[in-house]
Amino acid sequence: MTNQVAILDTTRCSGCGRCISACEFRLFSLETKAWKKRSVMLDVEQCSGCGVCAARCATGAISMGDKPSQPGEGITPDLRRLPSGHPAR
Ligand code: SF4
Ligand code: SF4
Repeated sequence: MTNQVAILDTTRCSGCGRCISACEFRLFSLETKAWKKRSVMLDVEQCSGCGVCAARCATGAISMGDKPSQPGEGITPDLRRLPSGHPAR
């Protein structure tokens, strides 16, 4: 285990699905929002920080960063940044 975890920026995700097969813990899933497929991080707490998903992602949507200090942090972070009432929510 490292102190690093995968950080997903769904705004850069093309929905290719490579991260899903890359992760031995199956921590990613694809969802469809506004007719667009994108990856979501299901449980960042389980991430071992191996970096395989970040290496496989061709669009740079996954980077490695510090482990979140709060439970639940790091799960589809873009959703939390969007104001309530935003059409993507
Ligand atoms: S590998 Fe990257 S672009 Fe492909 S689904 Fe995963 S996060 Fe999105
Ligand atoms: S860094 Fe490794 S364990 Fe964490 S989500 Fe990516 S592939 Fe899975």
